[in-house]
Amino acid sequence: MTTPRHSIFQHSTIASLAAGVFDDDLTLQELLGHGSFGLGTFNALDGEMIVLDGVCYQMRSDGSISQPPMSANTPYAMVTNFVPTLRTELKGDLLRKSVNQIISELEPSPNYLYAVRITGEFNWVTTRTVAKQTRPYPPLVEATDGEDVLRFENVKGVLAGFRTPEFQATVSVPGCHVHFIDDERTMGGHVVDYELKSGVAELCIGTDLQLRLPVTKEFMQANLTPEDLMEQLNKAEHSDH
Ligand SMILES: [Zn+2]
Repeated sequence: MTTPRHSIFQHSTIASLAAGVFDDDLTLQELLGHGSFGLGTFNALDGEMIVLDGVCYQMRSDGSISQPPMSANTPYAMVTNFVPTLRTELKGDLLRKSVNQIISELEPSPNYLYAVRITGEFNWVTTRTVAKQTRPYPPLVEATDGEDVLRFENVKGVLAGFRTPEFQATVSVPGCHVHFIDDERTMGGHVVDYELKSGVAELCIGTDLQLRLPVTKEFMQANLTPEDLMEQLNKAEHSDH
């Protein structure tokens, strides 16, 4: 069987966010033209973004969830048109670690990108949500330091995001990066951990990556390769790779 080619669009890099480049001119309108599924954040780091079926939700640190205007801007986002090519049923109170293990075994190779969607019932999900920053912007690791971790119990919803290969660690978030939103679209955020009661995991293999880099002065002058970059990213993103 030939693996079908599938493109994933990414705006800017996680290293750029780490360096405190929190504003760009990419609009949601343009972003959604590249994909109807994905995640990201908003200018000034004003909350977590999740995109499902072409609808973009803004999950703010005050707990509110809204659909932002198409003119809103993003400094970091990753989207694709989700075509589920791999699928597995998940049952039996599985922690994130176990789910990741099952998904890894489903992947034909660790060397591609995967869009991942997990729909189901969760015993609990813990998330955090970035808070709007003001200029001069701090590095990401300072902006996310001391964030509240919220815990949602017995909730139905969807995890949406991407698993990316190690070689892409400073472009995308290292390992698996997913955001959560419940079925009622009233709670969610950047996923820290969870226990799935039962559900379905679907994967969409990404063979092509379109990377859009900012053309701002901030981006041009940012140091995207500080010595402790991986430490910063693991701390800021709660990476589990
Ligand atoms: Zn996130």
